[in-house]
Amino acid sequence: MITKIIHEEKIQKAKKYVEKGESFVIVTHVTPDGDAIGSALGLYHFLTAYGKDNVTVVVPNDFPQFYKWMPGHKEIVIHEKYPDFAEQLIRDADVIFCLDFNEPKRIEKLAPAVVAAEGRRVMIDHHLNPADFCRVTMSYPEMSSTSEMVFRFICRMGMFDLINKDCAACIYTGMMTDTGSFTYNSNKPEIYTIISELIKKGIDKDLIYRKVNQVYSESRLRMMGYVLYEKMKVYPEQHAALITLSLEEMNRFHYVTGDTEGFVNLPLSIENVAFSVFIREDKDYVKISLRSVGDFPCNQFASRYFNGGGHKNASGGEFYGSLADAVAVFEKGLEEFNPNKTEDLDKHD
Ligand code: 5GP
Ligand code: MN
Repeated sequence: MITKIIHEEKIQKAKKYVEKGESFVIVTHVTPDGDAIGSALGLYHFLTAYGKDNVTVVVPNDFPQFYKWMPGHKEIVIHEKYPDFAEQLIRDADVIFCLDFNEPKRIEKLAPAVVAAEGRRVMIDHHLNPADFCRVTMSYPEMSSTSEMVFRFICRMGMFDLINKDCAACIYTGMMTDTGSFTYNSNKPEIYTIISELIKKGIDKDLIYRKVNQVYSESRLRMMGYVLYEKMKVYPEQHAALITLSLEEMNRFHYVTGDTEGFVNLPLSIENVAFSVFIREDKDYVKISLRSVGDFPCNQFASRYFNGGGHKNASGGEFYGSLADAVAVFEKGLEEFNPNKTEDLDKHD
């Protein structure tokens, strides 16, 4: 038995929507990661196994190639490619599941359609400070991943038997990717009870690891070498490190979506580095990824300097300006940042 984390009345309310609803849309955040796609497809397979034949996963934009083996990925509707179709699905849905995001801003151009929709919205998420835009809000920041929550949600509805191998593979992928293959946010024993159940459903966890982590191009590995040799700056006194990449540099290495995945974690393998930041130029903004080990709350740093947020050890933000200006903001932050223990952001994880 696993602990009842999600409140019973939330389970019962959402269960009614599941029972009575005919059309379902599952939405997840922009630039979907493994947990976004894993939780969304996990729920998709469950609803399909339950007998619902009108279930669609809608994402704001495309997701990396290394998730394009996941069962059901071909059925995902990408709003950026098919905006009218995606918005029609949302308008027509009886139930809209909002997975792995805590506020409409995180689904960007999908937000107006989701917020205006008449269907019942259910949030399943593990980010701090959920916004109030859903009828049912299941928000538990202590959970490893939204995928773990989807597993718990299905079990608590009494429908564990409907978790098939495809569903289990998607849930496992989300749990694995949101914990860096169980290297952070992964000390809760029940995570491994759940994994044990997923393996009993027939998944091959070793194969899933390889499909996600060992399918890159040669040029991506060379870009990683370049980044580490030429572009990494270490700040020994602050126990921090910075990596930057411009669009020109990324083009030089034939960048495709997902190629910089994991770069931000690399400097954390240095003994004295506990805070790592990756600043990457994008088309019309600069994307910031932050990671820490131990107590350093990089979500506070992200929200204070880069209008972002996330988890204590893994967060992100955006900057509108040049790469050089973003680096200047980071270095100023490094000088002056002093985590405020009483801040809301610090409370949960
Ligand atoms: P990543 O560095 O992988 O893009 O993001 C790590 C985590 O930071 C995500 O799971 C998400 O929780 C959070 N995050 C990333 N970008 C943003 C952002 O722009 N705003 C907020 N609030 N959170 C973000
Ligand atoms: Mn997540």
